[in-house]
Amino acid sequence: DLDSAAAPLPSISKSNIGNRWSDITSYATKKKVQSWFQLPNGNWELGRIMSTSGTESVISLPGGKVLKVNSDSLIPANPDILDGVDDLMQLSYLNEPSVLFNLQYRYNQDMIYTKAGPVLVAINPFKKVPLYGNDYIEAYKNKSIESPHVYAIADTAIREMTRDEVNQSIIISGESGAGKTETAKIAMQYLAVLGGGSGIEYEILKTNPILEAFGNAKTLRNDNSSRFGKLIEIHFSETGKISGAKIQTLTNIKFEFVVHMAVLLEKSRVVQCAEGERSYHIFYQLCAGAPRALREKLNLKDVDEYKYLKQSNCYSITGVDDAVQFHIVKEALDVVHVSKEDQESVFAMLAAVLWLGNVSFTMIDNENHVEAVEDESLINVAKLIECDIADLSLALSTRKMRVGNDNIVQKLTLSQAIETRDALAKSIYACLFEWLVEQINKSLAVGKRLTGRSISILDIYGFESFDRNSFEQFCINYANERLQQHFNRHLFKLEQEEYIQDGIDWTKVDFDDNQDCLHLFEKKPLGLLSLLNEESTFPNGTDYTFANKLKQHLYSNPCFRGEREKAFTVSHFAGEVTYDTTGFLEKNRDLLHLDSIQLLSSSSCHLPQAFASNMLNQSEKPVVGPLHKAGGADSQKLSVATKFKGQLFQLMQRLESTTPHFIRCIKPNNFQSPGLYEQGLVLQQLRCCGVLEVVRISRSGFPTRMSHQKFARRYGFLLAENAASQDPLSVSVAILHQFNILPEMYQVGYTKLFFRTGQIGVLEDTRNNT
Ligand code: ATP
Ligand code: MG
Repeated sequence: DLDSAAAPLPSISKSNIGNRWSDITSYATKKKVQSWFQLPNGNWELGRIMSTSGTESVISLPGGKVLKVNSDSLIPANPDILDGVDDLMQLSYLNEPSVLFNLQYRYNQDMIYTKAGPVLVAINPFKKVPLYGNDYIEAYKNKSIESPHVYAIADTAIREMTRDEVNQSIIISGESGAGKTETAKIAMQYLAVLGGGSGIEYEILKTNPILEAFGNAKTLRNDNSSRFGKLIEIHFSETGKISGAKIQTLTNIKFEFVVHMAVLLEKSRVVQCAEGERSYHIFYQLCAGAPRALREKLNLKDVDEYKYLKQSNCYSITGVDDAVQFHIVKEALDVVHVSKEDQESVFAMLAAVLWLGNVSFTMIDNENHVEAVEDESLINVAKLIECDIADLSLALSTRKMRVGNDNIVQKLTLSQAIETRDALAKSIYACLFEWLVEQINKSLAVGKRLTGRSISILDIYGFESFDRNSFEQFCINYANERLQQHFNRHLFKLEQEEYIQDGIDWTKVDFDDNQDCLHLFEKKPLGLLSLLNEESTFPNGTDYTFANKLKQHLYSNPCFRGEREKAFTVSHFAGEVTYDTTGFLEKNRDLLHLDSIQLLSSSSCHLPQAFASNMLNQSEKPVVGPLHKAGGADSQKLSVATKFKGQLFQLMQRLESTTPHFIRCIKPNNFQSPGLYEQGLVLQQLRCCGVLEVVRISRSGFPTRMSHQKFARRYGFLLAENAASQDPLSVSVAILHQFNILPEMYQVGYTKLFFRTGQIGVLEDTRNNT
């Protein structure tokens, strides 16, 4: 990914930034003030303004270089005392280079967490940092540490749950590889220790290796990439009591019950994966770690003998021993009470999927029709699924159909047979994943009732924009659009509350709503999802007709743009993404033929049987697909988009009733390596995940806040008269007067002073030069 790493920095949109020198001219003309200067490579460098005349300034850069530049190209930097503040809101100048620098300054010292007002920003260290474990947990619990941390967020969540008796959520977002899953585990760890005692916290933590083995895979972006979204709901039996006035300690919090909601597993990965990536970890773990008896029973081979695993030419992950991982997963399955027999069935299903990939076909006539080769692969699949070989062979190479009143059997062509085989493999795996999630839930729920309050942790795939974007990105970005709306609404409300609480005039601050984009997706009948579903049910619908329909109906929508060929572009909150509709209809239909479902239900093993009835339950109505225009006996599940939207709505509904806490994970480089902070990459993500938006919202008001006490202490000595005997509020007001800070530049609240951007910088400068 060298190319994207070297990509130039996105240029700073000046209008969006607000605080340039020209906004505060008198100040800018002072000598030796620090300022940001953008180098030709896009990076920002800190310099000092030597002199300013008219529109030109002379600036000295580190290393002694002196340049004459346009004053407008300079962006004010914060005074040194603000270097590395732990909340970006404390910065006098909230411009992009200042934010980038502040985060980098902290990152270089392993302070990977920083607040951006109510949001926690976490920058992936890609190495072990000494910030975790019981001592830290204790310290956050006792409030003896105050630096930003996931523990602090989890602690706040528990406290607010207890105090307000309202359910809480911790919403973690960020790009692939940014650290969401690790962050979710760190939050769980804190909750587990605080809620510990019942033993179930151990079980809860053990769900992670299982979900990761079956739902994570190595991708080009992340060696352990989650290919599903999850919501973990942790319930507490009693909403703990707070005792003691000063140090608040919580007692009587116990885990009760957990719900995992897994959303849209990327199942195409089972049969198809890109060069250098891997399929789901569990396949490699099984092949490497299965003990001899199991190997023999499942007729397991080495990974490179399976076509599904072989195609991507990547079998191992640096630093990971799959055999060791296999034992960890088995232990974890024990802990969540998956019986040994069920475990064996699970492994048999995995082996069946692998062997399915090796099933091949031969031509039987000159019309391209095929039949499955009866070799080791086919025999093994039948044995593992516990069904008849002849039934399996037929299910893979023919399709039963009804034409009028007659039942006919249609032979499949090679490509149809391969599609059918792969569809079966994908379905088995997806059902297996869902089944496991259900087992985990059951195990954790044993004998429990849902009574207390809960904290949910959401770890969901972040916004994705690649060179080529397909149906998966379409769904993922739609989900992120919904989450972003949740984020906007909440933060806007919070901001408003803080003003009102401190008695400040609330003048409505504009903020970008992404309602238009959501509309584009959800509108009926002329939205992206409806049109996709409609086209998917048409026998003659193709990706091409779908793309044309979009262009025909949506051309006037400002968030939509038709592109050449079969592509279209959506203006997402995080930027424009062009989607290639190739494969959209097929992926959305996700047809599994009734023949395959019947095959699974004929199994003598309870797992495939359960899968079959699960698949039938999801069927809505028989619908005609493209392969079987005559009207076939095919099972049409809900379309993938419909199911996804349903799950997303359920998820949002749960979140709506909670108090959210947001964590934004940031990936500092594309190499998964420590110590490398690429400004451009970070900036892009800060913009995408709305951190700069939060900053923008606050900047349009009075972003700098300081308590009366702190303000009086810091600047009181600048007063001409001795102010020692006066109260902090009077001292503060006196300072404001003495320095002619204009009334429209600040507001005096009950407890704090609120300033427009840049004001503290002026005072700070005076203070330092005194
Ligand atoms: P995806 O969307 O692909 O699932 P993700 O955001 O969940 O990505 P993670 O799997 O959590 O990303 O993190 C990727 C890797 O980064 C981890 O495997 C780990 O090596 C490293 N990492 C993340 N957070 C931390 C942390 N706090 N301390 C140390 N290493 C970390
Ligand atoms: Mg993840």
